[in-house]
Amino acid sequence: MDVPWPGPQCIVCLATSDLTVEHLIPEALGGRLTSRLLCRACNSRIGHQAESQAEADPTIRSLVAKLARAIPRLAGQFAEGQRYVSTGPGGASPGYVKGGEFFVSSTKLDDGSLIQSTPQAVKTLQKLLARDNHAAVDVAQALRRFADAPENTRLEITPAIEVIKWRIDGIQPALDGPLLNLLVPIKSAYEFLALHLNTAICVNAPGLRAIRAALMGAPIDPVHVVVDRLQAPEAKPFHGLLFEGNHPYATVQVRYFGQLAFRVHFRTLSVDGPQFVYTHDLATNCEEIATSTNTLVPT
Ligand SMILES: [Zn+2]
Repeated sequence: MDVPWPGPQCIVCLATSDLTVEHLIPEALGGRLTSRLLCRACNSRIGHQAESQAEADPTIRSLVAKLARAIPRLAGQFAEGQRYVSTGPGGASPGYVKGGEFFVSSTKLDDGSLIQSTPQAVKTLQKLLARDNHAAVDVAQALRRFADAPENTRLEITPAIEVIKWRIDGIQPALDGPLLNLLVPIKSAYEFLALHLNTAICVNAPGLRAIRAALMGAPIDPVHVVVDRLQAPEAKPFHGLLFEGNHPYATVQVRYFGQLAFRVHFRTLSVDGPQFVYTHDLATNCEEIATSTNTLVPT
């Protein structure tokens, strides 16, 4: 859904040129709500600084894995390039997904042995056999024996080289990535407030100036902005934005995958007028902006 933006200015740096289509919820997380709220420079800076690692957040990774059946396409895109850990009789090995396939990362263990993906292991084997001056016919035979080797069984290729082709039973997301940068929900919440305030979001008020400064790279000033990271009870395939009203200052709830919630407190700001709630059903891709009756479950 694209929301028309009446303002002539980037709501972060206030530049009046080069406004570009911007996702209020990161596109990498499946966000579809767009508007021309930012200039190209701000959009790309915030993208690099804050949003580029959003997919690595452990809670987000677990939620996407949990919801994979409801959101198969997003889950597939999401897996691409991400780090995983394999499970199987050979133990847990780190690796990554490329083209929908899992590859073990090359690792050297303390005892000097190597863990490699099968295609990589073939290359290593060729290199080792060539280094030890084996005849071409012996190399070909060794590679054939490797190709035919049963899984989970130690096989002697030469007296100096043993291999085991471990079976991989499954993969799990590696959950040691960095937590989501708080600028991501701050940006979503600030942009959502812009849809309430229209061009008044660009006025010279201290609370708004502080948010813009944070989105320009300054430290987040807790006098003006505080963010709580919360867990709602259940993973569900939806994203949501909710202006919760002024109690006594404006708060916006940002919800990813139904469960991971951020309450952004704009501590020196109050916003009059209607309160909107935006929901994006990730299973059906239906989006809705309504006047809030607090439909996102309070966390
Ligand atoms: Zn800008």
